[in-house]
Amino acid sequence: MSDLNWKKYLVKPDQTIALSEWDPQDASAWKSNRKEAEARNQELNAELETLQELLFAEGKHKILIVLQGMDTSGKDGVIRRVFDGVNPQGVRVASFKVPTSIELAHDYLWRVHQQTPGRGEIVIFNRSHYEDVLVVRVHNLAPPEVWKRRYDHINHFEQLLIDEGTTILKFFLHINLDEQRERLLSRLDTPSKHWKFNPGDIKERKLWDQYEKAYEAVLSKTSQPGAPWIIVPANRKWYRDLLISTVLVDTLKDLKMEYPKAVEDLESYRAELID
Ligand code: AMP
Ligand code: MG
Repeated sequence: MSDLNWKKYLVKPDQTIALSEWDPQDASAWKSNRKEAEARNQELNAELETLQELLFAEGKHKILIVLQGMDTSGKDGVIRRVFDGVNPQGVRVASFKVPTSIELAHDYLWRVHQQTPGRGEIVIFNRSHYEDVLVVRVHNLAPPEVWKRRYDHINHFEQLLIDEGTTILKFFLHINLDEQRERLLSRLDTPSKHWKFNPGDIKERKLWDQYEKAYEAVLSKTSQPGAPWIIVPANRKWYRDLLISTVLVDTLKDLKMEYPKAVEDLESYRAELID
């Protein structure tokens, strides 16, 4: 099977996105090759493990991965499966929930900036500052004149991070309404998944069209060089994982990282250990 051509899922700066034109069921050339895809995924996991260690050892680059998508789109699944086996010391997850009163007393990027990666670190945002133009817009948590300014803030904020050495990758996990129904039903049908069922998801589901519109605005206005959006067809979990793993491995390889130089006269220490 040929390697995955993920560039076709990249949103170009200023490209206008209509999600109806993006197939959430797409599995490209891997269609009906699920087993092969899963095997390839395991290889990529191992590669990611090695690359992450190199990232940590070199201590130069900062990697920020943003995961966004409707409820049940698979944000938690990606974190569990794509990062399976990666050393937890070098990877951190930051989950953004309903802001606390302290967070609300500050500007909306305050809590986000604190969680950005340091050198040698990978940070995964499970939801992010984009909620402030998504749920906030759909539920009128701020007036339009307030949230409309935020696309510019966000682009500038991300540019600041890029200028200071952060590589940003933003994944929109694209599922459709039918797939969400199946996933919610499966949570109801399976006792071990009952804890995942949130009645609020049913209410949000009714606002699907509004969320889709809000996502289209995000994707159309905030994909920029150094911080692109990637629209991940996410109805098939295995393709979703394969695509994201491939993007991560390719991106980390492109950084041309190197292990730090060893101390001088490395060999001279051998004698001390042996004597
Ligand atoms: P979950 O990711 O399922 O644990 O849910 C987290 C919830 O927090 C979601 O319903 C988000 O929409 C909500 N949330 C995250 N960020 C914000 C925000 N800035 N304002 C309001 N709600 C938010
Ligand atoms: Mg949820």
